[in-house]
Amino acid sequence: MFSERMKKLVPYTPGEQPQDKRYLKLNTNENPYPPSPKIRDVLDGLDIGRLRLYPDPMSTRLREKLAVKWGLKKDQVFVSNGSDEALSFCFYAFFGSEKGKLLFPKVTYSFFPVYCSFYNIQYKTIPLNDDFTIDVTKFIDEGGCGLIFPNPNAPTGIEVPPEKVIYLLENYPKDRVVVIDEAYIDFGGESAAGLIHRFHNLAVVRTFSKSMSLAGLRLGFVIADEALISALFTVKDSFNSYPADTLAQLIGETALSDEGYYRTITDEIISTRENFARKLVELGWNVLPSKSNFVLTGKKGVSGKEAYLRLKERGILVRHFDLDKIRDFVRITIGKREDMERLLDEIRGLF
Ligand code: PMP
Repeated sequence: MFSERMKKLVPYTPGEQPQDKRYLKLNTNENPYPPSPKIRDVLDGLDIGRLRLYPDPMSTRLREKLAVKWGLKKDQVFVSNGSDEALSFCFYAFFGSEKGKLLFPKVTYSFFPVYCSFYNIQYKTIPLNDDFTIDVTKFIDEGGCGLIFPNPNAPTGIEVPPEKVIYLLENYPKDRVVVIDEAYIDFGGESAAGLIHRFHNLAVVRTFSKSMSLAGLRLGFVIADEALISALFTVKDSFNSYPADTLAQLIGETALSDEGYYRTITDEIISTRENFARKLVELGWNVLPSKSNFVLTGKKGVSGKEAYLRLKERGILVRHFDLDKIRDFVRITIGKREDMERLLDEIRGLF
């Protein structure tokens, strides 16, 4: 009953989403604070008759609002059903094996190889430096048919600093696309979005799931030159005309209008992260320098799996990746201050 291509698929494994609500969930980089309270008013005032009609297939108003925020034209913005979908469309539109292999870091978002297998794209992974940073010169030396990396990288949380991003873009072939996945950029990193005017081969992928606290809504977007955005529309309209539904578009627009609220909760998460990381270091843990809403951390003599399992027994979910170089680490999402204090108490007792 199944196609040969289906039998070959190796799907992505998302972090656990237990339905019994027993756990303190620090495993999927969700925001611990609710989304903008303005969304409540919009939902209360919603004319449900609007749901009778299909949504705007182009997400025009939302794209216009995003364009204003970023000082762009709406034709430089694409909206998707979560940024995973945007990433998938980027893989389809920009990466093919005719010019060589797609490049991405060896330790990175584990969805990338999944999209490669889905779209039959050959890829080559580039090892991280010993300190877990990304070496952009290796991308330049390798060339490939294009490249993609998250900034900050996942699951290390480490940022490629802006001067290195510019160096990479200046020296990478201009006829190949560079996709930067900025899912976590708002937690202290510097966005490359402003560089799309200079580099027409740059696509910046963003999400409403993390800093905007709307992971349940499924909304992502891409900022790039008009030609790249137009290609993404072609892919979208060959797959699903309406990836962003009426509610998602409306709520997305509302969230964008509440910058002050989001600045406050983001600052709080950053300050909680710094405080948490300092205390973990005091307890003898190695904490990679994060610009994200999570930290990757490990302690000598404690395997990552053991840390994950023992914390789970104590009702706290973190994420462990059974992969070379990060096997002895766990990735911990930054929650509220009291969440991190509870976790620190458990860590003091357990390890
Ligand atoms: N990029 C990275 C690096 C991520 O960790 C995630 C979350 N799993 C995503 C993209 C996708 O997020 P979403 O589809 O919720 O926008």
